[in-house]
Amino acid sequence: MHLTMFSLSSMQSNNIQTQTSSSLLINHHHQHNGFHHLTHVSIRPSPRIHHRLLFSPRAQIDNLTTTSNNNYVSIPSLDDNLSKLHKSSRPSSLSNIEESTSSHPLSSSNKLKIAIIGFGNFGQFIAKAFIKQGHIVLAHSRTDYSLTAQSLNVNFFKDPNDICEQHPDIILLCTSINSLERVICSLPIQKLKRNTLFVDVLSVKEFPKNIFLQSLPQEFDILCTHPMFGPTSGKDNWKGLPFMFDKVRIGQKESRINRVNNFINIFEKEGCRMVEMSCCEHDKYAAGSQFITHTIGRLLQKLGPETTPINTKGYEKLLNLMENTTADSFDLYYGLFMYNNNSMEVLEKLDAALESLKRELFGKVLEKLEKKVEKESRLALPTPLAKNIEKLQVERKEEALS
Ligand code: NAP
Repeated sequence: MHLTMFSLSSMQSNNIQTQTSSSLLINHHHQHNGFHHLTHVSIRPSPRIHHRLLFSPRAQIDNLTTTSNNNYVSIPSLDDNLSKLHKSSRPSSLSNIEESTSSHPLSSSNKLKIAIIGFGNFGQFIAKAFIKQGHIVLAHSRTDYSLTAQSLNVNFFKDPNDICEQHPDIILLCTSINSLERVICSLPIQKLKRNTLFVDVLSVKEFPKNIFLQSLPQEFDILCTHPMFGPTSGKDNWKGLPFMFDKVRIGQKESRINRVNNFINIFEKEGCRMVEMSCCEHDKYAAGSQFITHTIGRLLQKLGPETTPINTKGYEKLLNLMENTTADSFDLYYGLFMYNNNSMEVLEKLDAALESLKRELFGKVLEKLEKKVEKESRLALPTPLAKNIEKLQVERKEEALS
């Protein structure tokens, strides 16, 4: 794990370097943990295409995807690469999707048929709002949630073939971050209508965007989103809660533009604060806000804090933070770390900040002692404090000598 952290820490300065280090890191995990992630390496295109596709600057992706008025702009060379990639990266049945699947017109009303893939904690939570707003909701998950689904008015399909054969307008991925790739690979997407909109809600964004671009045929639209709330924080209502989205690839037909806007409107109608930003920007902000929040919450849990008769308001907030963050699965927290290139830097800064705070405290104690107390009285201090002061004195002497 130490090695892993080291490779992550050295990758912040250069985008290409960053992603390369990330691949190495994944390699490492694959070898040691049977990590599934590497399966996509075998289906990757040549490094040049791969680099352009996955790691090109945001501007290139924007050119390919949406303009300010949502028109689809096609770059011939990139299109060629994409179509080559799709042909080489999927079974032939998927490459022939246009021939094998009939075209289904999108529903003319605002009612959407949404298929949720991953019907766990968050999938069930979000389904309730869709149902409330009159949309048709289907679901599929690794676990059989037939009974829960029934109680929510959701049609549950145990077999992924069956849910795809329902030709939903939208496939909404609500799986854990680290299972996304294997879940997408296991979906028989050739059974979907060819202009299906793929959406995800993962708490990291560059990672699903790249997986989508890499594994979905070009005819499919892509919207990456992150509702910045969950079953706890959004229990009562979603008013004022941020909903981040990035229209990664939306076709120019009016029906397709309407469909993605209808989906986004679900959150607007619930009162969310709508934030359109790139996946890359999201990951930078989220590492410094969400990841640090979850890290502090989990750190507190390790300290085992207890409620006292004299809890301050601040302490109550800490206890709440601990409860809220640890209510989410560890998979989710791990995903925030492993699949956001900015998280390692945040973790290192946190370490450094604690060290710096400790030095400040001990330094202050030493300063006072040096002014007022004799060496003997210093030795009479509690052992841990005395030890730290001695250590600091040695360090200072060494610093002065060097
Ligand atoms: P999670 O632990 O991140 O994900 C649980 C879901 O992933 C379940 O549907 C589970 O299916 C599925 N899953 C896990 N491992 C799998 C595997 N090997 N193969 C197939 N499916 C697998 O918890 P969550 O809170 O429900 O989050 C779901 C997604 O929403 C995550 O990507 C998370 O980042 C995002 N999100 C969560 C929140 C939140 O507050 N919880 C907020 C915004 C976004 P089964 O239940 O069938 O096993």
